[in-house]
Amino acid sequence: MARRKKIYEGKAKIMYEGPEPGTLVQYFKDDATAFNAEKRATIEGKGVLNNRLSEYFMTGLTQVGIPNHFIKRINMREQLIRSVEIIPLEVIVRNFAAGSLSTRLGMAEGTPLPRPIVEFCYKDDALGDPLVSEEHVIAFGWASQQDLDDMIALALRVNDFLSGVMMAVGIKLVDFKIEIGRVWENDYHRLIVADEISPDSCRLWDMQTGQKLDKDVFRRDLGNLADAYTEVARRLGVLPTNVTHAPKPTLIN
Ligand code: UDP
Repeated sequence: MARRKKIYEGKAKIMYEGPEPGTLVQYFKDDATAFNAEKRATIEGKGVLNNRLSEYFMTGLTQVGIPNHFIKRINMREQLIRSVEIIPLEVIVRNFAAGSLSTRLGMAEGTPLPRPIVEFCYKDDALGDPLVSEEHVIAFGWASQQDLDDMIALALRVNDFLSGVMMAVGIKLVDFKIEIGRVWENDYHRLIVADEISPDSCRLWDMQTGQKLDKDVFRRDLGNLADAYTEVARRLGVLPTNVTHAPKPTLIN
């Protein structure tokens, strides 16, 4: 990798300055964290898989006209993206009850929801990304009412697209999280999907068996995370050859 200025290092990715103004290079690490980084591990191949899967989903969004930050993949671990002003909210869409919604409302995991539910969490690691209401979002100025309406519309479009793509390969999209950013054009801004879309930020269940193919495999110690992500990639036709599990070169004396 060429020497680049590091802008920010997060739990699963590093951002570097991009080659042109308004661009960034997003590097996918193998690190996995859960429960607000209380649980950590390095999972060989995860970064490569998420780079490819996020490329696949973002390219698909572009093809159906949903604006997002993806420009092009650079190599196995890096992609070129548009730099955005991230709105400090995690936008969660749920189709079936799971995770924190199940805990909060005492609803069995897998219960179908009467309609897709959009939730917002305030991005603050120290506070554990608390769930917030639309009132909080407006009152504290994290986004305007117009932004909020646009974010909900964007998130629901992503949900329709992703649900269809996953259903076609026998996977149920239970829920997912996206992040949204502003891009400025003169005095106006518009909102685009940013960050990543990968099994790190979605709940994906096999339609037939209910097997989990997402980060819950790591959160709940259900097996090998890279194998689960490889299965998602294989079904989608991403990664026709199993590059992440390629044997290491042997040293010849
Ligand atoms: N999610 C995420 N990052 C977070 C919190 C949640 O990507 O910091 C995703 C998570 O993978 C799931 C969805 O958002 O697909 C809903 O997560 P939930 O609120 O149920 O939280 P969890 O059970 O993971 O604490």
